[in-house]
Amino acid sequence: MSSATLAPAPQPFAHYRGLGDAELDARIAAVRGRMGPRLVILGHHYQQDGVIAHADFQGDSYQLSKSAAGRDACEAIAFCGVHFMAETADILVNTPEKVAARGGRRVTVVLPDMAAGCSMADMAAIEQVEDAWADLGTVIDTADVTPVTYINSAASLKAFCGRHGGIVCTSSNARAVLDWAFARTRRVLFFPDQHLGRNTARKMGIPLDEMCVWNPHDPTLGGNARAQLEKSRVILWQGHCSVHAMFRPEHVDAFRANLPGVQILVHPECAMEVVDKADLTGSTSFILKTVAAAPPGSKWAIGTELHLVKRLEQNHPEQTIRFLSPTICMCATMYRIDLAHLCWSLEHLEACKPVNVIRVDDETARWAVTALERMLAVS
Ligand code: SF4
Repeated sequence: MSSATLAPAPQPFAHYRGLGDAELDARIAAVRGRMGPRLVILGHHYQQDGVIAHADFQGDSYQLSKSAAGRDACEAIAFCGVHFMAETADILVNTPEKVAARGGRRVTVVLPDMAAGCSMADMAAIEQVEDAWADLGTVIDTADVTPVTYINSAASLKAFCGRHGGIVCTSSNARAVLDWAFARTRRVLFFPDQHLGRNTARKMGIPLDEMCVWNPHDPTLGGNARAQLEKSRVILWQGHCSVHAMFRPEHVDAFRANLPGVQILVHPECAMEVVDKADLTGSTSFILKTVAAAPPGSKWAIGTELHLVKRLEQNHPEQTIRFLSPTICMCATMYRIDLAHLCWSLEHLEACKPVNVIRVDDETARWAVTALERMLAVS
């Protein structure tokens, strides 16, 4: 083996912090070259460009996990996203059936920076959820409630839904999942994004006075009167995405006043007041497809994460694409994954000394898969 193909000994993280982007790029590419198909790098749509350049797949969290699960030669995944996404990848690539088919070998999943969490997922801690379920049971029959969690949630919450007859949804299939849930029970408890839950339920014709918001920090029935809970068909967990919460109705008004012909395109994690004023609302995939299918000269103001909008702007110079907010709305936690963290984690992976391994315990994974499989059967 020539010296050019030798793997360097992995170093403490501080070493990588001191390297320039060109050297980090070269070292990441070298690991990829040496590991070949044994390594899969996944890059979420909201990830910064320098990291995306190294990704084997770019997509939303669910698409990415499915892509990795389909790669038989894969031994290790570096998930350039946030914590719950790496958990989902671990759950889907390491089901008991898949591990058995590999002769007992697990795929190692790493998150290059453990501080890359999701503020929305963190708003629904499993202890809060268990308490809320018990408190709800003092007012309504929880056998008549389907818990539904957005995929942007911890594995423990997905498992809670699996154990209680519930299901996972994405922003693409939330409507179909709620239809499934209402075919089984009269009520839904929707985690952790109140906006996706409210926007979807309203499109289904459920009036606002048949919804309530459960505040996990309010010990008195989540801040609800008993009568309101009894009347509610949709109980929305009080969580939100700190990125999409920054888009405001007045931003829509400003674009309509200043850019004639503009179409407003927003993600359903935005507040209802923004969605109500938008021309189109849909998932990340919907946003990408809608812009790709639009004729040259189309004008858009888009309400979703900054890196995705900037990439759309670069990829579609024939259209006018603007970011809906005057302030920067980017996923700051995902942004923590940079070239230094990626290089650090890859060189450790290659040396069989993985750092930041994401491993969901078997019991949690089993119930989370149950909830994910229910979703797959729906959509
Ligand atoms: S954009 Fe919002 S929901 Fe998505 S990972 Fe970041 S904080 Fe979480």
